[in-house]
Amino acid sequence: MKKLLPCAFAQFTVAQYVAATLLTAFLFVMILPVGVHAEAEGTTLRKGGRVQVSGTGGVGLRVRSGPALTFARQVVLAEGQVVNVLSGPIRNDGYDWYKITGYDSLGSSGWSAGRWLLPTSRKSIAPPTVSSPTSRSGFRTITLPVLMYHNVGYGWNRYAVTMPAFREQLDWLRDSGYTTVTLAQVYDYMYDGGKLPSKPVVLTFDDGWASQWNAVLELNERGMMGVFFVMGGGIGLSDVQLRRMAGWGHEIGAHSLTHPDLTQLSDGQLYNEVAGSKKTLESRLGVPIHFFAYPYGSYNGRVIDAVAAAGYRGGIAAWGGGYWTPDQRWTEPRIEISGFASLQEFAYLLRSATE
Ligand SMILES: [Zn+2]
Repeated sequence: MKKLLPCAFAQFTVAQYVAATLLTAFLFVMILPVGVHAEAEGTTLRKGGRVQVSGTGGVGLRVRSGPALTFARQVVLAEGQVVNVLSGPIRNDGYDWYKITGYDSLGSSGWSAGRWLLPTSRKSIAPPTVSSPTSRSGFRTITLPVLMYHNVGYGWNRYAVTMPAFREQLDWLRDSGYTTVTLAQVYDYMYDGGKLPSKPVVLTFDDGWASQWNAVLELNERGMMGVFFVMGGGIGLSDVQLRRMAGWGHEIGAHSLTHPDLTQLSDGQLYNEVAGSKKTLESRLGVPIHFFAYPYGSYNGRVIDAVAAAGYRGGIAAWGGGYWTPDQRWTEPRIEISGFASLQEFAYLLRSATE
């Protein structure tokens, strides 16, 4: 079950795949009424705003490491506690999730469902500002949407966007003034004084599904760039295709060798998956591999250390919104584009990432 949630790739039999697709569809139907209810409550919390834990019936508010119920619980906040909103909302599991901070003296941050957070004007102790070595060293933060896709034009489910929907989204981005950029450009901007266009967007594609060739052709037609996180162990896109993609300016990143949950591996296996995927892709494709995306969006301190030690420039998580900061260099967030998202929902995700 765990494998189904964050990422489509797994070595399923056809029967398992069908069962998983049906289950996903079922879950979507089940959580829909909750989502509608949350919207009916009509509170969108303001980024940078102060909010108070309320209405939990004394149970307290769970703060999780990511914007979904599957993420680990970090801490429980008491009724009345006041915290600050960093970003959000991200819709998952029927809740609008917000990233919050200001609940401890360490400057920790985590994700909570917004329905138990009420805007407040009550004065509270200011959250510890991240005394940032980053700003001293001239590193920059940026708010930009980094979208996460899986299959394109092959099937229709959470991890598969149809061709008409994909084309519509690309056209909307172009018509709304967005310019696609690569992760190298974003990191150049954050760490090396590089320049970015005024409305940058990053389109990322995970797992190297063969169907992503459809996406490449659509991107090429519009002069757009994509970032493709592929497994060193191979799956769909061939080396010939990947080399051509790199030649056209698309960026190739690593997504491990075999797509395991990296937090569950021995040190040796972890090294192999993280450093090994970089090495094999670089030697096969003849291009540098600078970025690593965590399979299932799953990482911990040990995994991050392995990615940093392998010589990557950065690590990319699976969710979390559009606020990129140097202190998240190894876990920068993305925004999942579900195959079920309407153009209206797509536009909302883009806008809320950068508002
Ligand atoms: Zn994946």
